[in-house]
Amino acid sequence: MSEMADRYHALNAEVFPWFLPQWQRVLSLFDQNRLPHALLLNGAPGIGKARLAESIAGYVMCHQPVDSKACGHCRSCELLASSGHPDLYYLQPDEAGKAIKVDQVRELTEFMQNTAQQGGYRVVVLEPAEAMNISAANALLKTLEEPGKDTLLILITHQLGQVLPTIKSRCQRLDCAIPSSEQSVPWLMAQLSIEEAEASRLLSVVHGAPLTGLAFKSSGQQALRADLLSSLRDMLRGRKTPIEAAEQFVKTDVEIVLSLVLGVLSDVARMKATDELECIRNGDMEKMIKGVAKNTTPDKIFILMDAIQEELLGLKRRHNPNKQLLLERIFLDWLSLIQP
Ligand SMILES: [Zn+2]
Repeated sequence: MSEMADRYHALNAEVFPWFLPQWQRVLSLFDQNRLPHALLLNGAPGIGKARLAESIAGYVMCHQPVDSKACGHCRSCELLASSGHPDLYYLQPDEAGKAIKVDQVRELTEFMQNTAQQGGYRVVVLEPAEAMNISAANALLKTLEEPGKDTLLILITHQLGQVLPTIKSRCQRLDCAIPSSEQSVPWLMAQLSIEEAEASRLLSVVHGAPLTGLAFKSSGQQALRADLLSSLRDMLRGRKTPIEAAEQFVKTDVEIVLSLVLGVLSDVARMKATDELECIRNGDMEKMIKGVAKNTTPDKIFILMDAIQEELLGLKRRHNPNKQLLLERIFLDWLSLIQP
């Protein structure tokens, strides 16, 4: 629950500018009494879907919304701000990356059977929807069909393709695209007090996801990126072995490491295809990217990219991977990109 408490501190913050169309849509449905029982917020990670869900929750629970916003002063808003609203239920896996268990869904069902304590809407935020296995999803179906009056379930998914069809078909989908750079660059500049060039560079590293960019900068992940890039280079130069590099990163966030390698490989592929410097994202590693592109084949690049995507999915499903071996494999393949 602590994560939830952290999140709800920002409850009355503005809706992200790139989500204004989605926000307006929900508001107009609500104002016309046409809000569905269940919404499925669909989009890439790191673009602020959870915050959008919170804003929606805050709005429908507020007793006297003003100017298309929660008032911030009523009992409901106060409870939300102190992260203790009895009519808001937040459901996520016990541990990040794990499944949502059927028992957790049953607890939710019990919550749904109670009447709203504050006399308004009850809201459930469930994230991520793809973390429900078949039995958890089945346990949720009845609730999704008949959640009761003045109840809203907001499901969030980062991987729509992995959400069970029975769940999808019972929710109204709200697609959340990655914001355009016209929207995300100024926002990130303001958040981090950085120049336009730095904000653009940061966003391209995180595939345009502004909140990931924010976290990246704030949590020292830029240092991880710098370490990784220099290790990738050291391996190519024979100054570090894949085993040593794996040892170096095994205790870090392996998902981020893999995403970073993937980013470099995308650059290598682009460089190979177009030979244009402007198209690469890791502009500070231009020399290395050029060198690898020159000495490898498209086949090798795409096979390695596929392998990394597979490993990333495996990590999300948590098969208790041996991270040392996993990294060794990827780094060995990285090295063999330039070997005949
Ligand atoms: Zn209010």
